[in-house]
Amino acid sequence: MRLIMLGAPGAGKGTQAKKIAAIYNIPHISTGDIFRANIKDKTDLGLKAKEYMDKGLLVPDELVVDIVADRLKQEDCKDGFILDGFPRTIPQAESLDKALISMDTKINYAINIDVPDENIVRRMSGRRACLKCGATYHINYNPPQVKDICDSCTGELILRDDDKEETVLKRLDIYHKQTSPLINYYEEKNTLVTVDGTKNIDDITKSIVEILGA
Ligand code: ADP
Ligand code: ADP
Ligand code: ZN
Repeated sequence: MRLIMLGAPGAGKGTQAKKIAAIYNIPHISTGDIFRANIKDKTDLGLKAKEYMDKGLLVPDELVVDIVADRLKQEDCKDGFILDGFPRTIPQAESLDKALISMDTKINYAINIDVPDENIVRRMSGRRACLKCGATYHINYNPPQVKDICDSCTGELILRDDDKEETVLKRLDIYHKQTSPLINYYEEKNTLVTVDGTKNIDDITKSIVEILGA
C-alpha cells in the first residue's frame, strides 16, 4: 500500500498516518519529523530548514525532494509506505511521480483529511509533540496518560514553536495557496479519497480502513 496524506496543518495527518502505518505494517515517513530531527542534531539541513519553519513558510522544494526520493529507495519501503507532509507543492508531487516511475510503481491513494480552518487554530494550540519519537497528542482530544510525557517513549512533550496562533494562521494561508492545489492534482489521477476530519480520531481511522480495504 503506497499512500499520501493530504490536509491542512493540524488536520490530523500525523495522527492518522501513525495508526494506518501500524495497521498495514508500512513505514510512516513525515518530512516534518525529518526536519525536526535535523534541527535537533544541528545539521546543515536542519539549520536551513529552521529559518523557513519558524516563519510558517515551506522549506524550498530542492531541500526536500531528494531526501524523500532516497528514503523511498530504502528496503523497508519495498512493499509500501505512508507519506505525511509530502508532497506539499505541485513541483514536489511531480518529482515524487518521477521517482515512483523510476521505481516502477505508483501511489494507490492520496487521503485528504478535510477540516475547516476554524477548527485548526484550536487544535494546534492544544497540540503537544514528542520530539523524540514524533508522536502527537492533544490536551483535550487525545491527552497522554501522564501530563507532558509521551505514552510511547516517555519523552517530554512540548508545544511546537510553529504552533503559536500567528504562525498557524500563516501556515494555513500557505496551505491554501501552495498545497491545496494537490487535491485537484490527485483527483485528476483518480487516486484522491476525502475523509471528514472533524469526526473523532478512531472513527476517521475506521473510514480510512474501509476505503483501503484489507
Ligand atoms: P504539520 O504536521 O502541522 O502539517 P509538519 O510537521 O508536517 O507540520 O511540517 C512542519 C513544517 O516543516 C512545515 O510548516 C514546513 O515549514 C516544513 N515542511 C514539512 N514538510 C515539508 C515539505 N514537504 N515541503 C516544504 N516544507 C515542509
Ligand atoms: P497534522 O499532522 O495534520 O498537522 P496532527 O495529527 O498533529 O495534525 O493533529 C493536530 C492536533 O489535533 C494534535 O494535537 C492531535 O492530537 C489533534 N487531533 C488529531 N485528530 C483529531 C481529531 N479527529 N479530533 C480532534 N483532535 C484531533
Ligand atoms: Zn515519544
